[in-house]
Amino acid sequence: MISEQTRFRILNSWFLIVHLGCLLPIWTGVSWFAVGVCCFLYFIRMFGLTAGYHRYFSHRSYKTSRVFQFLMALLGASAGQNGPLWWAAKHRHHHRYSDTEEDVHSPVTGSFWWSHMGWILSKKFVDYDDNSVRDLAKYPELRMLDWGHAVVLTLLGVGLFGLGELLAVQAPGLGTDGPQLLAWGFFISTTLLYHGVFTVNSLAHVWGSRRFNTTDQSRNNLFIALITLGEGWHNNHHRYMTSERQGFYWWEIDISHYILTMFSWVGLVHDLRKPPQKIYDEARQNKHSIHLPELPSLPEIQEGISEGIEELTAAIKQRKPASEGA
Ligand SMILES: [Zn+2]
Ligand SMILES: [Zn+2]
Repeated sequence: MISEQTRFRILNSWFLIVHLGCLLPIWTGVSWFAVGVCCFLYFIRMFGLTAGYHRYFSHRSYKTSRVFQFLMALLGASAGQNGPLWWAAKHRHHHRYSDTEEDVHSPVTGSFWWSHMGWILSKKFVDYDDNSVRDLAKYPELRMLDWGHAVVLTLLGVGLFGLGELLAVQAPGLGTDGPQLLAWGFFISTTLLYHGVFTVNSLAHVWGSRRFNTTDQSRNNLFIALITLGEGWHNNHHRYMTSERQGFYWWEIDISHYILTMFSWVGLVHDLRKPPQKIYDEARQNKHSIHLPELPSLPEIQEGISEGIEELTAAIKQRKPASEGA
């Protein structure tokens, strides 16, 4: 059994290695193919984290089969952010103690950098309360993945290197090879993924608007929603965490929600939980705190048009004597 101290050291070194790996393109160069792989792996692994680790394992906001559950856990594990049990336990703890002294990653009670990544480098990161994830621990395959999550990440790295070397021989026109795919598809993509997800813990508790008067400082933020496939509607989420959709309205872009909805059409997932009517009523009552431009009413538009015509006519009349004199 590895001691807590050793695990802590391994995790810290690993975090540093992944960041240093981002310097590799100095030697490996870049190709459109490698950048495409980087973006693709960012996108699908972010989906594994948001739709899988967060909305499914942490909040059980929809239902699915045991096979699909495992596939989501596998995708989440490939992001290098530990196993599904660890992730869900830490996240449930965050909801229980949001922005209090007990919260592991709060930019309100701790510093911004602490909430973003300082806690990852601390001993608070290592252990979790297994009682809080008993509903997940009953599945041996999830426990196995929680224990061996690093294997999934390692296989991804080895697979990318192998693919790059194969393409260097089979499709030299792509201009890629093993080291280059490892640099972009593994190190850079994983680092971007770390910081993308971390913004939900840091920025989404300080920057944005608040629709609901939650006891924490959670915010709604379009930028974070775009880079995290919908997790930026964090104030909505803290108000009603068991909803599968975090953008509560059509204009709140939530890509994970769109994909999960499409999955539900083909039966991969089902029973997607929605916010109840009382949440929408509460949002309407708090409308003064929604920072959205109000659309003008029809009479206001008509009035604006006739005012515009009057101003234009007056301007033409004023110009007439000058043109007559010319
Ligand atoms: Zn939060
Ligand atoms: Zn949550």
